[in-house]
Formats: sequence, C-alpha cells, structure tokens
Amino acid sequence: MSLPKIILKQGKAKPFYSRHPWVFAGAISKTEQSPKDGAEVEVYSAEGNFIARGLYNSQSKIQVRLYTWNPDQPLDKDFFKSKFQNAIQLRNDLGLNNNEVGCRLVFSEADGLSGLCVDKYGKWLVMQYTSLAMANRREMFADILQELINPEGIYLRTEKGIGKLEGISLQDEICRGTPPEGTIPIQEHGLQFMVNLTEGQKTGYYLDQRDNRLEAAKLAPGRKVLDVFCYGGGFSLHALKHGATETVGIDQSASALHLAADNAKRNNLGPCRWILGSAFETLAELVKTGEKFGVVVLDPPKFARSRSAIDEAIKGYRKLNALGLKLLEPGGFLVSCCCSGLITMDMMEQILALVGADEKRDIQVLQRRGPSPDHPVAATCLESHYLKCIITRVM
Ligand code: SAH
Repeated sequence: MSLPKIILKQGKAKPFYSRHPWVFAGAISKTEQSPKDGAEVEVYSAEGNFIARGLYNSQSKIQVRLYTWNPDQPLDKDFFKSKFQNAIQLRNDLGLNNNEVGCRLVFSEADGLSGLCVDKYGKWLVMQYTSLAMANRREMFADILQELINPEGIYLRTEKGIGKLEGISLQDEICRGTPPEGTIPIQEHGLQFMVNLTEGQKTGYYLDQRDNRLEAAKLAPGRKVLDVFCYGGGFSLHALKHGATETVGIDQSASALHLAADNAKRNNLGPCRWILGSAFETLAELVKTGEKFGVVVLDPPKFARSRSAIDEAIKGYRKLNALGLKLLEPGGFLVSCCCSGLITMDMMEQILALVGADEKRDIQVLQRRGPSPDHPVAATCLESHYLKCIITRVM
C-alpha cells in the first residue's frame, strides 16, 4: 500500500534536499490520502520528485519531521534501532556510556531521531518526547532501549509546554522496570552530583554544560565566582575545586538551592553562599552593594521560545549581561551562556559588543563553545546548535 503523500509548494524543496528535517506548514501545497497524525508519509517536490520519508502531525508547526531520504526505507523498528545503535556508539566512543557519568544517549535531530531525547543516569534512562509521532511510538523505543541497554528502569518525562505545541498528552511515569529510590549519584570531572530524575529540572540535570563547567573553573583560582542561574551548583563546585576563594550562587528555585548545598557538602567544598531570588533583581541588589567578582557565570533558561520572542529575548540577554559586567572586577572573566536555538553565536557576540560599549568595558572573546559532544549538532539542522557558551575577559 502506498504511503500518504505531502506535496511541497513550488520552490520550497531545497532545504529538504539538503536534509533539513523540519517541514513547516508554509512549505506544503497539498496533502494526499489524509494521513492521520503520527502517520508515516512521503514528501514530494512540486515537480513530483520523491524527497524523503517522515512522520506527520497536522497539529504541530512542524507538520512533517524527516527521517530518511531513501525511498525504499520504511520507518520501522529496524530502521529506528539502527539510529539508536549509531547514537549509542558515539557515546561509547566518547567514553560516556557507563554507570558512573551521566550522558545524553540520544539527542533528537542531531542523532537523526527528531522529537526524542534519552538521558542516562547510572542504570536508569529518561525518555523525553517533543513530537507526537515519536511519542506514539514510545513502546517500540522502550523495547529498542531494553534490547540495547537493558536499563534498571526507563522513566518518561514531558517538557513543559510541549503538549500544547504538538498535541501530546503524556504524563511523567515509569514505562519500564522500576524507578530509582531517591537520587542517583553521577560523576562529572572528579565531582559527584546528585540527580533526581523524576522530580529534578529537565531530566534531572543539565548534562550539556558538563565541559563548560570545567573550562570556566580553570579561570577561577584565587577569584570570587558568581554563579547566576546555578541550579545544583555545577559551575560553583567546579570553581571551588579549582581554587576559587568563594562562590555565590543565585537561583529562583528553593529545591535547586537545596540540591546545590547538598552537592557542596558531599564534595566537601566551600565556602559557598546560595541566594534564593530572581536573577535580575538579585543582581541589581548586588550592584548596589558594590560587591565585585573575578568570574561571573550567566546560564539563564531559554529566553526565545519562538521567532516572535526573539526581540524580547535579545533585550533580556542584553540586560542580564550588562548586570554581569557591572559586577565583574577589571580583568575578570565573564562566562555568558545562551540556550535559545533561535539566538545564534553571532547574535550573542553582537549583544556582548553592545553591552561592552554601553558599560565602557573592553571585552575579549577567549572561547566560543557549544554543548558537550554527547549533544552533537546536526550540520543540516543548525537549530540543534542551541547552547552557546562564550568565555570572555573584561577589562
Ligand atoms: N547552571 C546550571 C543550569 C541552569 S538551568 C548548571 O550548570 O547545572 C537554569 C536555572 O535558572 C534553573 O535552575 C532555574 O531554576 C533558574 N531560573 C529560571 N529563571 C530564573 C530567574 N528569573 N531567576 C533566577 N533563577 C532562574
């Protein structure tokens, strides 16, 4: 039986021949054989040429997500299993697929599995779906993970807001095996962090900043470090281990600060202060007191969730970085992060240039960094390059 066909508008096929995996509604001219949401479809150019196979969702802005450019390749269990095997092989090669360190085992577009992330903490896996079609196939993916990894348990987490964007109604729940009792310890560059994969933020931990935390810490010896949006204290604790004189962490989540304080205790690290509050207000108060820092880390949540939010987001990053500069002593280091896929590295550098001029401070860019390599970037989908970390010296 032939698959339903999605026919693109004239002149809209190029990105998909170039293997970009997201077909937005605006590129589609017509849909034949009325596919159900979640169904496998074939995408054709206006001229009638086959381009790729994908999964359909009329409720999403991304109406088709593409998975193969081979006309003879069905999107069946064998196909997806080979994608998982490739993804796991990379983490094996990186030395990250073991029960000690946490790692992202599957990263959506970057592993050819648009709409699915899988994180591994100890013997447990956490699956997170950002597409209805992939969420509908979750039992098959759980089977594949069971065959390839045989975890103690697989827990399902849903990202806030994604239900509405994709029309998914999923609940956080254990889908295979048993959930861990309490928190799981993971190792990160010689420190231990505790992860609560059922209740912690995201899937319990921010694995993507693993190597940036270490890199920032190398600048910390003999300096006082401000860790803004600190969550479990990752940047602070690495800085202390590398000889920071003191750290101050800010977060608006009380449970994040409890976790941070507990992580510090477990690793026998200090002195550290944790301030509960909104970052913008707390930074403004610190500016008033005249306190200065030798390293300032800014690791905010995503400010731009859609194209229409980009201008507001830029204003937010500008204000935040200006506050960061005001708190930095001359010759100090600013570690400025941004996890909005819609804000590019160039845009962040322009923001820093504007802020430097406004504050009359010279900024030297030392490193332009991305996430750790278990969060690869698909060369054909630069939106997957969501995390930027710019390390600068500020005179
Ligand atoms: N730096 C952390 C990850 C930060 S994630 C690490 O290395 O693990 C972003 C954090 O910002 C979350 O902990 C969240 O609770 C906090 N947050 C979000 N909005 C905030 C706000 N307006 N003020 C303070 N903290 C905020």
